[in-house]
Amino acid sequence: MKLIRYGDPGNEKPGILLNDVYYDTRPVVQDYDEAFFADGAQLASLQAAIESKSLKKIEPSRLGPPVHRPGKIICVGLNYRKHAAESGMDVPGEPVLFFKATSSMVGPYDDIVIPKNSEKTDWEVELAVVIGKKASYVSEENAMEHVAGYVLHNDVSERAFQLERGGQWVKGKSADTFAPLGPYVVTKDEIPDPHQLRLWLKLNEEIVQDSNTNDLVFDIPTLVSYISQFMSLCPGDIISTGTPAGVGLGLDPPRYLKPGDVIELGVEGLGVSKQQVKAYQDL
Ligand code: ZN
Repeated sequence: MKLIRYGDPGNEKPGILLNDVYYDTRPVVQDYDEAFFADGAQLASLQAAIESKSLKKIEPSRLGPPVHRPGKIICVGLNYRKHAAESGMDVPGEPVLFFKATSSMVGPYDDIVIPKNSEKTDWEVELAVVIGKKASYVSEENAMEHVAGYVLHNDVSERAFQLERGGQWVKGKSADTFAPLGPYVVTKDEIPDPHQLRLWLKLNEEIVQDSNTNDLVFDIPTLVSYISQFMSLCPGDIISTGTPAGVGLGLDPPRYLKPGDVIELGVEGLGVSKQQVKAYQDL
């Protein structure tokens, strides 16, 4: 199933994409939020509604992030070998974790706004995982039972804020618009092997990232189990699994986003998103 949310920012409604047609799912589902992902029954009634062909067709003018703002977005750093190398860092012995403010979420085709006083805004295509059933101290063997699905994520990053300003990476990861998500959440059943997916990103039509999730240092069961040793993963929470080589920081010379740039990115099976880059403007 491909879950979408549509409508004006902050006022999105749930829907699905089925054979290239969008349908409203509100008769069955209130939103794709913590309650929805916690409860297999809602997914089952959605499946029943699809089979009974009772859902109404829609033509959304805007897609929002396909998950209602979750409790947390946890990101994994340096989880592809060549990206660790281009960042001038070693492949870590344990997963590197950092948070991204959930207020940074936007839709898949919304603009990216370069934050105030930024000179080093960068791109990162990533496979993100959406948690289903709550996970606390789960084993790697049972970890996938806690995954609801997958979503495409651009982990937009301000490298000076992240690396030159001291403290935690969260400062460079959390500006408004820094988490374009979607176009949709694909439920786990539609992606038999999440560790065999091509992922790529184009800057102004030029391919700059092109890799495969088979190159992940720590795979999804390892990450879910590992994170759950330190905190509960709650329904709807997002884990972004890291980016491959080809970010602006790693180019020689480094290259950062400027107003007018266009980014297009995709993960096999999870669709394609596209963002225009805009300058910050005081209101
Ligand atoms: Zn990242």
